Amino acid sequence: MKELVKTIKLHIYPDNNAIALFKDMTMKYRDACNFISEYVFNNNYDLNFIHVQDVLYHDIRDNYGLKSQLAISAIKTVTASYKTVKEQLHQHPYKYVDADGSTVYIDKDLGWLWKPIKFNRPQADLVRRRDYSFIETGRCLSINTLGKRVKLTYDLPDCFKEYFDSSWSFGTAKLVNLKGKWYLHIPVSKTMADNFDPCKPTHVVGIDRGLRFLYNTYDEKGHSIFYNGKEVIDKRNTFNQVRAELQSRDTKSAKRKLKALSGRENRWMSDVNHQISKTLTETYDSGTLFVLENLENISFNEDNLSRRNKKGRNQIRSWSFYQLEQDLIYKASESGSWVIKVEAKYTSQRCPKCGRIHKQNRNYKLHEYKCDSCGYTSNDDRIGAMNLYELGMMYVSGDKNPHFVKGKSK
Ligand SMILES: [Zn+2]
Repeated sequence: MKELVKTIKLHIYPDNNAIALFKDMTMKYRDACNFISEYVFNNNYDLNFIHVQDVLYHDIRDNYGLKSQLAISAIKTVTASYKTVKEQLHQHPYKYVDADGSTVYIDKDLGWLWKPIKFNRPQADLVRRRDYSFIETGRCLSINTLGKRVKLTYDLPDCFKEYFDSSWSFGTAKLVNLKGKWYLHIPVSKTMADNFDPCKPTHVVGIDRGLRFLYNTYDEKGHSIFYNGKEVIDKRNTFNQVRAELQSRDTKSAKRKLKALSGRENRWMSDVNHQISKTLTETYDSGTLFVLENLENISFNEDNLSRRNKKGRNQIRSWSFYQLEQDLIYKASESGSWVIKVEAKYTSQRCPKCGRIHKQNRNYKLHEYKCDSCGYTSNDDRIGAMNLYELGMMYVSGDKNPHFVKGKSK
């Protein structure tokens, strides 16, 4: 069994009265968190919830006016933050080279902090059913404040509707104010049966970022899907032109427009990625192994991108691919499939038939791949996906780190 967790961000519409109550609550909650944080910092980082609660509970209630549940949530939030930072410090040990030239690693603990963790943004963590609940058959939200409970409406975009089908459980939500708008961030979770056997996938699908296409795929039957690259690339080019124009102006209003433009572009790209991962998981049923190139270290050395893309273009492509990756991982696990990431090296140069790796086999001008050894010829857009598929097959046969090595043919 595995747990799927996602956060939905509901835009909520409090009236003026509720806004005043929210402001009061979120500021006092933030102040209480800072108070607790200072205590933890000054007391040897005691992260034991019961200890901290014993000492601080009444002070939190008396000095900040928090109700019982909120006082407890504040302690949980602060101790959880310290635990996260503790883990981050542990993962980044202090490194130095000593006198005889060897590298020494020193584990970092919370003692490396210079000051208490600071909570800047007014916020409040609200426990389901106690502090917030959906009422009137889900049409409204009821939220507890330091004063009286408030009732309000919220936006439920189509993409969130599926989480309201009672198969998902709702966790402790965070009430936040972002640029004057109020949101309730709710983590939702669902337990899924994990019956995927990576040695016996129903399908193996390589997914590559394309040259002229956004994404190409290749599966065990030799089928490829090319995602309508032209439309997307045209639209992206339009975005790039507008961006270049705005960047050349360097005025305040141009900067504002640039920001709005990037927001629009991100939303549009998210939507495209959402559609693509949806199509993929609908085309390939439960038990599929999707194979993606590992993004790390890739954005600057990939042949595909360096020669044809202008500065800045790489970034959005990598970002967009990362997003597709996240989306696909999520949808795949929902539908009982799997995503692996493999080393991308040579995937655009290798002959998928005989395994020869030879850069010159790829003719970028003609968009053709022609193997100088076995004569295999193909549209060059497919090569990457075919090789990713091959790496997926290596994975299926037991190689946990499949990759291609130059000079070693199939
Ligand atoms: Zn060949």
